[in-house]
Amino acid sequence: MSDSKLAIKVDHTRCQGHARCLQEAPEVFGYTDDTNQAFVLPGADLAAHRAAIDVAIGACPECAISWDQG
Ligand code: SF4
Repeated sequence: MSDSKLAIKVDHTRCQGHARCLQEAPEVFGYTDDTNQAFVLPGADLAAHRAAIDVAIGACPECAISWDQG
């Protein structure tokens, strides 16, 4: 996967709002209090935070985060 194609997604049917992703990669994930769900910050530099994103993916108890292969 080339960096220009990098994308991640949060599956909102799975996300339960634990916010572990925000702890691991605060530059990438935001949080919506209304729904208690995480989202990917618009414009986040995914390539720069690739390692932290992988940690966040592993830390999510609901397996809600994944690299989006398009
Ligand atoms: S750690 Fe997983 S379940 Fe928790 S807010 Fe992040 S994406 Fe949602």
